[in-house]
Amino acid sequence: MYVRIDSTTDRFGRPLYSRPRGLRLSPLAMALGIIALGVLLWTRPWAPRPAAAAAEEPLQRADLAPRLGEAIPERYHGAIVSTPPPGFTEPVVALTFDDGPHPDVTAPILDALSARGITASFFMLGLQAEKYPDLAKRVAAEGHILANHSYAHRVHMSQAEAVLELDRAEALIYRAAGDSPLLFRPPEGRTDTVLTQYARDERFTIVQWSVDSEDWKHPPADTIIANCMEDLEPGSIVILHDGGGGYPDTPKALPGLLDRIESEGYSFVTVPELLQAWDAHLSATGL
Ligand SMILES: [Zn+2]
Repeated sequence: MYVRIDSTTDRFGRPLYSRPRGLRLSPLAMALGIIALGVLLWTRPWAPRPAAAAAEEPLQRADLAPRLGEAIPERYHGAIVSTPPPGFTEPVVALTFDDGPHPDVTAPILDALSARGITASFFMLGLQAEKYPDLAKRVAAEGHILANHSYAHRVHMSQAEAVLELDRAEALIYRAAGDSPLLFRPPEGRTDTVLTQYARDERFTIVQWSVDSEDWKHPPADTIIANCMEDLEPGSIVILHDGGGGYPDTPKALPGLLDRIESEGYSFVTVPELLQAWDAHLSATGL
């Protein structure tokens, strides 16, 4: 009889050839492979590198000191300012914008200001200036003042953290504007903090406000204008916001607000210009 013999088995049915069973690796080789893969994923040599990494070395504020604060009268170094001095009658006001720069809010505000040749003061957050460096540069290039509103808008912190908060923001302002007037507005206007004390020790002028637009409550444009006009007087500091926290009506209110303020005979100055006017008034009146 004819017996068919399977060519892959011997006569006892055992396989003649061992089938290929995949690549066999020792545990050591596998471990090395996993480590190598991990290193590759961690370092990501294929990822694009920031070309100007070396140029982004943190600036030391001490290096900048010789050019800083020249525009601010001596009497205001380390002082807290908010309301104009008694008897001040010059019809000038300073508009200030906090928490920017943010493309959705700062850009239309800049458009409205530059259309009328008005300059203002922008109390920027360092992290926003870091995120939108071109916008921060545009603010400076259009003649506005860049001032310090801390790096991340925190209120409570240690002394070491306060140094970082102020100095990082200051370095970013310097990078955008090429100079800084040494003006600081504390987050939430809090002057009883380690951060504000550090800023005062560093001879920053602490700039509060005398007129609150209350735009942070998100009222309609008409209410923002009414809030500003209610308390406006010669030498006022007006607080508005250009942060990303949703102040869509601030740019909407601005053209009408500028019209109203101008129609009452005021002109607009930056905070350093305002403090110079306050100072001249005090000097002239012997105070
Ligand atoms: Zn703020």
